[in-house]
Amino acid sequence: AHPIRPLVAGNWKMNGLEASRAEFKALAAALYPQLAQKVDVMICPPATLLSRLAGDAAGTRIALGGQDCHAAVSGAHTGDVSAEMLKDAGATAVIVGHSERRADHGESDAVVRAKAQAAWRAGLVAIICIGETEAERKAGKTLAVVAGQLDGSVPDGATAANTVIAYEPVWAIGTGLTPTAADVAEVHAALRARLAARLGGEGAAMRLLYGGSVKPANAAELMAVPHVDGALVGGASLKAADFLGIIAAYR
Ligand code: PEP
Repeated sequence: AHPIRPLVAGNWKMNGLEASRAEFKALAAALYPQLAQKVDVMICPPATLLSRLAGDAAGTRIALGGQDCHAAVSGAHTGDVSAEMLKDAGATAVIVGHSERRADHGESDAVVRAKAQAAWRAGLVAIICIGETEAERKAGKTLAVVAGQLDGSVPDGATAANTVIAYEPVWAIGTGLTPTAADVAEVHAALRARLAARLGGEGAAMRLLYGGSVKPANAAELMAVPHVDGALVGGASLKAADFLGIIAAYR
């Protein structure tokens, strides 16, 4: 058995009209026997869909998460959504610091850290994303980059219950490319050691997800890597059959 209860979370990104909602229902219908196994399952749809999917998810044990939140509770922030609002709509977690947010919206580690604290304030689990670019990997800077992001993005007070870390190499997201199992093992071991040094037993027990082109065909190999406690899945979370195929890595 895996030492830490795994989490397989799907990030729908800016997708989710009728077809995706049908896929969610298919996932919910098919998942129950799998859920008896030792894996938590989550879907992070666009915020507009949370309330609706909360109805579809009732009784299925599929958790829902947001994809981003503002650091404030409320106020003059046109277009933004607070962690409290996500919670109100049915979320139990929120992704913060996804590389697309860092790149498209210039989010720094300090901003991501504030968003993680906002998540906790609202009673949500913060799923904090980190990962190197292709240029950083080629320059041999991967471990230094992810250590810096981990230190800067994870607030003091992080526990295994309130925080999940997702290692997502930017060059592996949406590209069909993945690091080798050995490369993932190297990064996850380094992250585990750093978290344990800073947070003690909480860091030792915190879930470390791998994300970046996880598919049914590579999930078993990636999920078997030491200190990989589940997956954050983009494209393959949009099709119930693919997402179920990834969850099946924990059969
Ligand atoms: C992601 O963006 O979180 C992700 C892992 O995407 P994909 O699975 O499509 O690479």
